[in-house]
Amino acid sequence: MYYDVNVILIFILGLIVGSFSNVCIYRIPKNESIVYPASHCPKCHSKIKPFDNIPLLSFFLLKGRCRNCKSKISIQYPIVELLTGLIYLIIYLIYGLSIQTLVYIILSSALIIIAFIDLNEEIVPDVISLPGIVIGFAISFFVPYISFINSALGVVVGGGIILIIGLAGSVIFKKEAMGGGDVKLAAMIGAFLGWRYIIISLFLGFFLGALAGIILIMSKIKSREDVVPFGPFIVLGSFITLLWGEQIISWYLGF
Ligand SMILES: [Zn+2]
Repeated sequence: MYYDVNVILIFILGLIVGSFSNVCIYRIPKNESIVYPASHCPKCHSKIKPFDNIPLLSFFLLKGRCRNCKSKISIQYPIVELLTGLIYLIIYLIYGLSIQTLVYIILSSALIIIAFIDLNEEIVPDVISLPGIVIGFAISFFVPYISFINSALGVVVGGGIILIIGLAGSVIFKKEAMGGGDVKLAAMIGAFLGWRYIIISLFLGFFLGALAGIILIMSKIKSREDVVPFGPFIVLGSFITLLWGEQIISWYLGF
């Protein structure tokens, strides 16, 4: 039996980066430093000891409560850690030990942070999406799997689609359907994945967003007037695309 030890290492790397992502998700909307001070309980402000800060495990060992004040720790912490670990793992299984894996795990972490900030605060942070556009485009000059033309087209097509739909939506529904944050997010993903993948990502995002909207309204969790942030669905669509884009394209062309 052959085991690839990298599978375990990349999963653990994902858990650790996921743990840091939690700090970013919590602090970036507050304009706080993501490196200082060290992690502390948001309720009692006691410093979290290293052995209580082990990704995934500590949450369950502490039964989801702060060791000091026993206040509840959000289930979002282990979810973000596990999600990051799993996505890192699947990216590695598909793209192997390659530069593409490295770029995609960095992109996926940025997207997970954006998705959870959007879920919590209904904003897509510019501090990630704007540098993300530049970095995605710059990387395309050095990697073999995407050309800089494809990357530039991805920015224009991704941002352009959301911009046009947003403008059309605000004319038809007389309210802001999609914000500038979503435009920049789609442009960033387009810079990393190119024009074909961003179209698939956005299509999947719209489909899944509409599906979730219908389910939330029918189950009376949300009303028709409530705003459901669209960013997390763009992110979900782009995860599906960066993992299985080629299969989706050949399936589509098979018709
Ligand atoms: Zn506490």
